[in-house]
Amino acid sequence: MIKMCFPHLFSQMAESKQSGKLTSGDQQMRAQAAVVFLVDVDNTLLNNDRIQEDLKRHIERKFGREYRDRFWAIQEKLFEELGYRDYLGALQRFRVENPYEPHLVTAATFLVDYPFANRLYPEALDVLEQLRQWGQTVILSDGDVVFQPRKVERSGIFEAVDGHVLIYIHKEESLEDVVRRYPAEHYVMVDDKLRILTDIKKYWGDRVTTVFPRQGQFAYDPQVLASYPAADITVDRIGDLLEMDLANLLESRQPTQPTGAA
Ligand SMILES: [Mg+2]
Repeated sequence: MIKMCFPHLFSQMAESKQSGKLTSGDQQMRAQAAVVFLVDVDNTLLNNDRIQEDLKRHIERKFGREYRDRFWAIQEKLFEELGYRDYLGALQRFRVENPYEPHLVTAATFLVDYPFANRLYPEALDVLEQLRQWGQTVILSDGDVVFQPRKVERSGIFEAVDGHVLIYIHKEESLEDVVRRYPAEHYVMVDDKLRILTDIKKYWGDRVTTVFPRQGQFAYDPQVLASYPAADITVDRIGDLLEMDLANLLESRQPTQPTGAA
């Protein structure tokens, strides 16, 4: 699996900011922390379903329903191929099919200039601030190399975690890299996808506490809920984490056997 260079880039930026000098992210060896908090972005901190709906509506308004549906079909196909949403890539493909639609650039501008901060869930940044008081807090996301980092930065999330942002193609397959960059005795993973929390639990076992905020389009899907075990902690909204303290957050984990190393 090819890993994107963003972990290196963002880690380096964060370290440079802290130390005041430019150093290679790979040269930095952090001491093992007691606990590291890993937090997803889409439908965990940010209402990504709403961003998708806004994009669909924009394309429908500018180009009509037929184009909207075709664009979305391309986007879904690309998602199957890549494993992450690549809206800008889908737009490039859509343009190949429609080379004489100069207004297509407005859709790219719509995406790049989207007011992401307006789509943060209530108290999302307060939760990050709370977690940072308890330990190192790192954004752990999947996505493309342009739109996803832009989203993280423009929403205010990048600043809220002081640049500690990791963006992979498949985060659940990149945990070894996470450990290398942020060694910890224990991890807390907050993610709206039970499938990802299950994979992470299999890898780390008791070394991780999984937190499932029931937000986004699949949060109440009976098929999804029946397919995976419950997370250690389930909350209705990300802001509910403000009501927990560190001790009861860490005590809530279910005993399991890890299959992964490190
Ligand atoms: Mg998510």
